[in-house]
Amino acid sequence: MEVTGSPVLRDVVLIGGGHSHVGVLHMFAMKPLPGVRLTVICTDTDTPYSGMLPGYIAGHYSFDDVHIDLRRLAEFAGARYYRDEVIGIDRATRKVLCRNRPPVAYDALSINIGSTPQLAGVAGAGEHVVPVKPIRRFNEHWLALLARVCNHPGATTIAIVGAGAGGVEMTLAMQYRLRNELLARGRNPDELRFHLFSAAPQILTTHNPRVRQAFERVLAERGVVVHRAAEVVQVAAGRLQTQAGEVLEADEIVWVTQAGGAAWLRETGLALDDKGFIRVRTTLQSETDPLIFAAGDCAAMIDHPLEKAGVFAVRMGKPLTENLRRTILRQPLLDYRPQQRWLALISTGDRHAIASRGAFYARGDLVWRWKDWIDRRFMRKFTELAPLAMGNDQPGAAIPLDEREQTQAISAVAMRCGGCGAKVGATVLSRALADVHPLERDDVLIGLHAPDDAAVVRVPPGKAIVQTVDFFRAFIDDPWLFGRIAANHALGDIFAMGAEAQSATAIVTVPPGLESKVEDTVFQMMAGAVSVLSAAGCALVGGHTGEGRELALGFAINGLIDETLADVMQKGGMRPGDVLILTKPIGTGTLFAAHARLRAAGRWIDAALESMQVSNRAAVPCLTAHGATACTDLTGFGLLGHLVEMTRASGVDAELELSALPLLDGALDTVAAGILSSLQPANVRLRRALRDPEAFFDHPRYPLLFDPQTAGGLLASVPAESFDACLAELRGLGYPQAVRVGRILAQGEALEPIRLIG
Ligand SMILES: Cc1cc2nc3c(=O)[nH]c(=O)nc-3n(C[C@H](O)[C@H](O)[C@H](O)COP(=O)(O)OP(=O)(O)OC[C@H]3O[C@@H](n4cnc5c(N)ncnc54)[C@H](O)[C@@H]3O)c2cc1C
Repeated sequence: MEVTGSPVLRDVVLIGGGHSHVGVLHMFAMKPLPGVRLTVICTDTDTPYSGMLPGYIAGHYSFDDVHIDLRRLAEFAGARYYRDEVIGIDRATRKVLCRNRPPVAYDALSINIGSTPQLAGVAGAGEHVVPVKPIRRFNEHWLALLARVCNHPGATTIAIVGAGAGGVEMTLAMQYRLRNELLARGRNPDELRFHLFSAAPQILTTHNPRVRQAFERVLAERGVVVHRAAEVVQVAAGRLQTQAGEVLEADEIVWVTQAGGAAWLRETGLALDDKGFIRVRTTLQSETDPLIFAAGDCAAMIDHPLEKAGVFAVRMGKPLTENLRRTILRQPLLDYRPQQRWLALISTGDRHAIASRGAFYARGDLVWRWKDWIDRRFMRKFTELAPLAMGNDQPGAAIPLDEREQTQAISAVAMRCGGCGAKVGATVLSRALADVHPLERDDVLIGLHAPDDAAVVRVPPGKAIVQTVDFFRAFIDDPWLFGRIAANHALGDIFAMGAEAQSATAIVTVPPGLESKVEDTVFQMMAGAVSVLSAAGCALVGGHTGEGRELALGFAINGLIDETLADVMQKGGMRPGDVLILTKPIGTGTLFAAHARLRAAGRWIDAALESMQVSNRAAVPCLTAHGATACTDLTGFGLLGHLVEMTRASGVDAELELSALPLLDGALDTVAAGILSSLQPANVRLRRALRDPEAFFDHPRYPLLFDPQTAGGLLASVPAESFDACLAELRGLGYPQAVRVGRILAQGEALEPIRLIG
């Protein structure tokens, strides 16, 4: 995580990763506004570029060709990326409400969430059609349809409802791809039947007659049955009906029409048009709330009604960026004047396209190549990203602040320069913790519910205390998620001992800044941590919060265990013949090193973050029940480091199978690119514990033996006879990648305890 010298003074939050917001992120990256922090919240890390979508369906482009990696783009822009679904806005407190995380505060807000299919008005559509939006879900359906058609011989009828540019292009693209797939399998492509439904008497109503006629001809030549003046009013399983009573039996019904605003917008109090889109002025500000902007399909310009097209969403990116800046700087806003005519390049599925602009018409393979060139050039801007030099460290003097904020900002800059170390003010802290509700336990006698100089907890009779401490700096710019992972990581030691977590005290450092921002950061981080501690049955009983250059969090955790130590699981205890199990995949060190260098795919990081939040708690009783002889949790020393500790303590040797190691997606790619964690060199020293390591230097998985883990899984030895049952149960408990990674051997003559196999 980058640390800049300038404190955060204002938060600009972007909802949705549509075509306008990717432009905003890129423009802020090129020209940051010191003191402004951008946060983008989006349901999809891979956000689709609509212009290339039909080409993807037709098979001309790969998934990555037509998607922008929002997490990577946000990292490039120095913005925070929260993968979540926005479900509302609390305008009174200026907070964005998310489905899975605490509200996100904003000073200025922009919405670019596209349109939502409106299926409610058509009986049965909600259950039986495949809407083209959201594209992520459509893509899942499309891949399933592709597999079904390819693998099951027989006729397939596909109905596409909506004969605008999107519907026509989709029909031709799907047909082109599916026919080619059948031909490649030696099957008859005429098994496929396509029907296109237009509510209007003609197709492509917003385009000129020559464009319409050209597409009419293409559709006729390709055998697509076009139903004109045929509004679909009812749908059932495998069947649709038009207003005129025409009925069609169809295997698949694709919906490319009747889009409206997202339902949650209705609860925001923002003025909406009759289709539920946000009414915006020429400045792209909501008619109701000057701090809220909207762009792309979800915006309805009051003075310039626009067609819903990606081209406008893209164009709005620049004025939106400028007006977000000006709002923060309290400068007059600029008007966006959309163009009267716009160029549409509509493809016919087969690397051929038709150009339409006002009365202009042209067609040919060359038009496709032109479109392909424009689209690829657009995508390059968002995919060919190299880390930028560190941002401007000025204190953001240009942002107007009130007197109190000015004092706080000046003192924050002084603190950063002077090295910090001060305690966070009591008022800030108590406000931040007011909405964090730690678990209450009967054995916590004095805790956060009645704070004192120290917490007092009872040790139940017959129990002993298990203690551990962990502390580390934030590796992602997301305090809530960081709080969750830091807590999970700290709890790992308690669970690995076979203990029950009882109580935790936290140590926090937070960069100085405006009180409201510090308060929010502490709240987010502790809310995340408490959600994990509470789920583990652990009460947060106290802590200390100081100012520091970097966000960091640690916990001292107390666990309870039977004082006879009958249940304790230690590192020593492994026996020859035992099987080695690893419960979670490895690779966090290399992946986050790659993320910081913009070399990791956002979806790899999403998956790693998910894995880091998986608790080891449920695995422990399972391992104990199957007679586990030793156990540890994987953290900073990496797999090899932890295994060596175990073999030493147990007086045994071990065989580790490289090809069996469970890996996080992308970890092999990033180590192959030579990207390793800064802790790797220290861990690599342990290669002396390997027998004949030179033989494995070139093995692609070899570097991952030394990769430091954050909130890693459990490494345990279980008797061979209980291994199968243990593994099956672990997988059922939520550790789908749990696997046998090796076995325990009797200590041999060799000095090195670990033998690798490929
Ligand atoms: C098949 C097809 C082909 C098309 N071809 C073209 C074309 O060639 N040229 C053209 O100009 N237009 C085309 N269009 C129209 C184009 O798709 C839309 O106009 C365009 O996508 C709108 O862009 P946007 O930025 O408003 O939103 P979108 O591109 O829809 O992006 C919205 C983003 O917001 C996210 N999001 C949605 N809801 C939430 C939420 N609640 N919380 C968080 N995130 C959320 C989504 O995940 C997505 O990332 C086509 C449409 C279709 C259906």
